[in-house]
Amino acid sequence: MDIQKKLEISLQKINLLEKMIEDKTRDLYYANKHLLDSNSYLDNIIDSMVDMLLTLNPDGNIRTANRSLLDTLGYKEKELLGNPISIILAEQEEVTFEGSGIEKLLKIGFVKDIEKTYLTKDGEKIPVLFSGSVMRKDGKIDGIVCVAHDITIRKEIEEERLKSKASEAAKKEAVKQTKYKDEFIANMSHEIRTPMNGILGMSYLLSKTDLDEEQKENLNALTTSAENLLVIINDVLDISKIQAGMMTFEQANFSINEILKNVNYTLNYKARERSNHLTYNIVEEVPEILIGDPVRLNQILLNLIGNGLKFTENGKVDVTVKAGEKKGDIQTLEFSIADNGIGIPKNKISKIFDSFSQAEQSTTRKFGGSGLGLTITNKLVQLQGGKIWVKSKINKGSTFSFTIPYKIGTTDVFIKEKMKEPNDPSVNLESIKILLVEDNPINQLMAKKVLSGWNCTTDTAENGKIAIEKLNASDYDVILMDLQMPKMDGYEATKHIRNKMKPPKNKVPIIAMTANAGSGEADRCLSLGMNDYISKPFVPHELNSKIVKLVKDKLV
Ligand code: ADP
Repeated sequence: MDIQKKLEISLQKINLLEKMIEDKTRDLYYANKHLLDSNSYLDNIIDSMVDMLLTLNPDGNIRTANRSLLDTLGYKEKELLGNPISIILAEQEEVTFEGSGIEKLLKIGFVKDIEKTYLTKDGEKIPVLFSGSVMRKDGKIDGIVCVAHDITIRKEIEEERLKSKASEAAKKEAVKQTKYKDEFIANMSHEIRTPMNGILGMSYLLSKTDLDEEQKENLNALTTSAENLLVIINDVLDISKIQAGMMTFEQANFSINEILKNVNYTLNYKARERSNHLTYNIVEEVPEILIGDPVRLNQILLNLIGNGLKFTENGKVDVTVKAGEKKGDIQTLEFSIADNGIGIPKNKISKIFDSFSQAEQSTTRKFGGSGLGLTITNKLVQLQGGKIWVKSKINKGSTFSFTIPYKIGTTDVFIKEKMKEPNDPSVNLESIKILLVEDNPINQLMAKKVLSGWNCTTDTAENGKIAIEKLNASDYDVILMDLQMPKMDGYEATKHIRNKMKPPKNKVPIIAMTANAGSGEADRCLSLGMNDYISKPFVPHELNSKIVKLVKDKLV
């Protein structure tokens, strides 16, 4: 082969080699580029993750942290890298390869969805769901990858749910307790008032008969004791009602003059008994008619004036009513009850509004009373939006003052309301036929006698079933319906009369007579279609006026 040919072949080989080198270089370039691209792609993915990602070195120190972790915990990368993971853990567990926290991870290679708490740079706690897995290189542990999912919102919702569950349970329990309490009050009230009705009613009837002086005196003592007992029973029931949050207040037009007149009527004899002078002074600016609860105002005044008279002898009790602050149509009244009696020791003053508290231990023995009067009075004033306070000096006397805001009423409405009420307390009911439904024989006898005093014709039934039979057989103008009775109670009987009987019998006026003073009793009666409601022991002329209201057209 000549030299020319050899050179050509060598050149061709060199070209081929060059081409091969060029191809390889290009391949390498592209391979390298590809590698670089995928690295930044991976970095991009890791930094775009919502979850927090962290890798640890084999020594347990932080090797890398993604953007989400840095942003959430408020660290710069250089502040974290190289530090132990405990820097971001609220629970100070040792997370090193030797430490206990990581043992499980190392043993099984991964942990999944465990709740942990991360700590931000500012010390704020962030609940997370933590997963971790061991990284290996050439069969050896090379580190740990940790992913944490922020569960703050989920925790908040969970806590909220737990809280509302707990408060719902507490509410349910409170409602249950209130219901038990209400039932207890109702039952006690029934058990106590039923015999009281008998005692007071019978003494009333006895007082209408011919009695000699000694009998009259005995009967008076009996009546007074029974009345005192009733006051204490009412106090205890009132306190229970207040404590159960069941005290409600009426909104009626009333005349302050009339209230004071009634109070005076009730307490006059008590003033005379202890030779006290009782005076009333209503300052002119006090509106004549107000809207509020006259019965409760009466109760407050009876208690405070009654106390004044009780703790004073040969002295005086002055009652003053003034107009206080006026805002729009709301007028606050200021009452003061000043006596010059025994006064209250300084160290006892702050306690007298507490339940069962009497200034002196000997008070009950000497003056009677339950020590509940001022507690009830205080609550009644407060629940009506007012205030009560006392100034007292031992052996000089005491002044109790209280305020209650009332809406100003109108005389027209008051007069109209008054006109509706019959003012003669004992109207003759000669033409009226009454069905008395009552199971207690003493109360039945007593009510029958009271009714016969008004000359009405009275039939009796021992329970609701007999009442329905009697109503089927004959017509009545009014039914007086006891509520708790054997066989068929007053509620059932009323339901039957209103829903199952034919007109006009289904329209017969029904007055509930009950010894149950629990809240809602009146509403329950009225919602069943009863026309009115009277609680036992009843005041005869009150029952009379309730009957008269219902049978006005039939009276001759
Ligand atoms: P009580 O049923 O004992 O009268 P209260 O709650 O009405 O109960 O009164 C509590 C105590 O306050 C009384 O026992 C008495 O010691 C004292 N107190 C109340 N009012 C007066 C008053 N006007 N003068 C002197 N002490 C009074």
